[in-house]
Amino acid sequence: MKKSCRQVVFDLIRNRKVISGKEIAKTTGFSAGAVSSAVSALMKEGFIVKEKFKSSTLKKSNIHGRPPLFLKIKPDYEFYIGCEIQNSHILVAVVDAYQQARIVRCFELPEPDQDLAETLEYIFRQVLQEVSFPKRVKGFGVCLPGSVDFHQGVIVHSPRVKSLTNYPLARILEERLHLPVVIENSARASGLAEVKFSQDKNLRNVIYIRIGKGIGSAIIIEGKLFRGSNDMGGEVGHIVVEDNYAAPLCTCGNRGCLETLASCPAMVRRANQLIQQGAHSCLESVFRDAPDAVKFERLVEAAAINDKVALIVFEETITYLIRALGMLINLLNPDSIILGGEEVKAKEFFLDQIKLRIKTKVITEVMQNLRIEFSHIGVEAGAFGVALLTQEKVHSILGSKISY
Ligand SMILES: [Zn+2]
Repeated sequence: MKKSCRQVVFDLIRNRKVISGKEIAKTTGFSAGAVSSAVSALMKEGFIVKEKFKSSTLKKSNIHGRPPLFLKIKPDYEFYIGCEIQNSHILVAVVDAYQQARIVRCFELPEPDQDLAETLEYIFRQVLQEVSFPKRVKGFGVCLPGSVDFHQGVIVHSPRVKSLTNYPLARILEERLHLPVVIENSARASGLAEVKFSQDKNLRNVIYIRIGKGIGSAIIIEGKLFRGSNDMGGEVGHIVVEDNYAAPLCTCGNRGCLETLASCPAMVRRANQLIQQGAHSCLESVFRDAPDAVKFERLVEAAAINDKVALIVFEETITYLIRALGMLINLLNPDSIILGGEEVKAKEFFLDQIKLRIKTKVITEVMQNLRIEFSHIGVEAGAFGVALLTQEKVHSILGSKISY
């Protein structure tokens, strides 16, 4: 869809932080008159303000006489609330027009039988009270693991809310809140936030993998989430990395998917299996007493004291991960691979080994500028990411409604 002049001007000012009117006309190719009326309209409605520089700054920049008109978006012009439904709680973040985090809050996850839309409405209204200009909250985003139809705003199915399938959460919340609502998968929202909040502003092509109870992922190409033709693009967890009949069965119906071999529960299961087969480990008694209650952290603790079983499990997991990553790197030639989720706890066992062993799976040229790193944002990534997606949606609605 072609953007209106006003939308182009607005986007440019937001992206550049501060820009002169002359530079806007030069960059966009619009006439000075068209830029001037777009700027006047945006100023009148409180979207943008003049940037005032001190005379010493102007002198330093070699600007003498009447200073040109510099413009910037008002940071308080708009706010977006994003939240992620996590294992045991709901994490909420508020971002402003400059995509800066303003507020982060954590709420207990309600009982499974409690109405999800009602809970989210309650959380939204609680957080709204803390925003300095509540009327400037322009949208609400929700992310959760599982299959989500982003375009329709529907939860197809999610392990967090098993009772809700094909649930039109966006429509229900929009009716309750009278605001645009975005629903997204957690890993996709987190991957986007990792790119947008990265110190490296040149980051464009990224593969994000989040290892936890399952394996979530996001593929970002040229700064945008890759969705594929059916909104199922980038399902790294379902790449088959062990192609034999004895490989574990995945929820997708195939055998040997990455998720069944390299997720945290898969690693714990494999440790138990090795112990059952007679391998000695400091975790023997833990698995004997309550095998289903053993957490991934115990495996990390065991690896830290050189427990053989824990180290074998991590070694096997790295083998599976690099099989999938090797294919993706050769195919997409990304700037960066970002690993997140619970696996961050095992960073010291994974990072160097992945960097070393991935070289045997890819062509040399694609490794030249490739960075492999762990998440910088942590648990808030999903809430931030879905807040940014909500801002994107609201701006695109605004752009499509106005035409010059
Ligand atoms: Zn699968």
